[in-house]
Amino acid sequence: MKSYCIKKYGAPLERVDTDTPVPKGDEVLLAVVGCGVCHSDLHIWEGYFKLGGGRKSDLSGIHQLPFTLGHEITGTVKALGPTASEVREGDNVVVYPWIGCGECSDCQSGQEQLCNYPKNLGINLAGGYATHVIVPHGRYLLNIGNLASELAATYACSGLTAYGALKKLKSKAEGAHLVIIGAGGVGLAAVKIVKAMMQIKTVVVDINPVKLEAAAAAGAEHIINFNDSDARKQLYQLTGGVRAIVDFVGSDETVNFAFGVLGTGGHLVIVGLFGGAAKLPTPMFPLKNLTLMGSYVGSLEEMNELMSMVSAGKIDPLPVLKRPLDQANNTLRDLEKGNIVGRVVLTP
Ligand SMILES: [Zn+2]
Ligand SMILES: [Zn+2]
Repeated sequence: MKSYCIKKYGAPLERVDTDTPVPKGDEVLLAVVGCGVCHSDLHIWEGYFKLGGGRKSDLSGIHQLPFTLGHEITGTVKALGPTASEVREGDNVVVYPWIGCGECSDCQSGQEQLCNYPKNLGINLAGGYATHVIVPHGRYLLNIGNLASELAATYACSGLTAYGALKKLKSKAEGAHLVIIGAGGVGLAAVKIVKAMMQIKTVVVDINPVKLEAAAAAGAEHIINFNDSDARKQLYQLTGGVRAIVDFVGSDETVNFAFGVLGTGGHLVIVGLFGGAAKLPTPMFPLKNLTLMGSYVGSLEEMNELMSMVSAGKIDPLPVLKRPLDQANNTLRDLEKGNIVGRVVLTP
């Protein structure tokens, strides 16, 4: 098999050729059909998250080098371990990559994505920038039927992340405005998914006019350029104080901006991992009854819910650009520069 691996953090990925693994126990071997390139791949590739003030959270201890990135994986089942179940050879599947230890209270309650001993594909275990990937159990494979494989891949992270965050706001935002900050792959997915979930007017805020146009085309009722000197005022006039905001960027600037436009009873969900540190006026939390929370991807159950909505045709497809697997390095660079609208899916 062929993989594109991190051999040194921040250096270009290198092609590595190895024997194709034979699945053991409950494991399933997939021939990869597509693997989405996610913004968090950039952080793993660099080896850290920025915590603000020059501090960094080191990611280099979470796996061994050489390491294969890629957690938005679709593929065809090639081989089953002796005790593997729930799929058959030849099935076309999308992988739920947010795998936990299976033992702790989070895993036992179906919140494997929150496990402290993660075995996430493309983060802790070898991922999908490769021709093949091993998945620990058939329960993490969702049949995609006739759905386009490259599109299905995007639901494993960008789609699921958007859905998980939006679910936290459903009861708060219904009938009001929802503000989405950041119209990258996840923000754009959120614009589309929210229409299938609730009655709401969506306002998208971004710095990039091309991405804002894409958000408008995807169904956002209003778009506001973050760099407009009166962006905060525009948003306040439109909404009278926002009840529900999802920040898909997660920088100190965006969190400060979002905090400044929250109305009474407002909820801010931070999803993006851009990094930074925000200083917020603490009296506003009680005085305005505000809630600040984070959201990390979604559960296996939520992935099943999302894929049911997708299969039922309730969610407009995200723009997906296919590139050959050997374009992994250019694609990461393009993503770093903010030059990608929607999602790039690498195909071996
Ligand atoms: Zn991701
Ligand atoms: Zn666990």
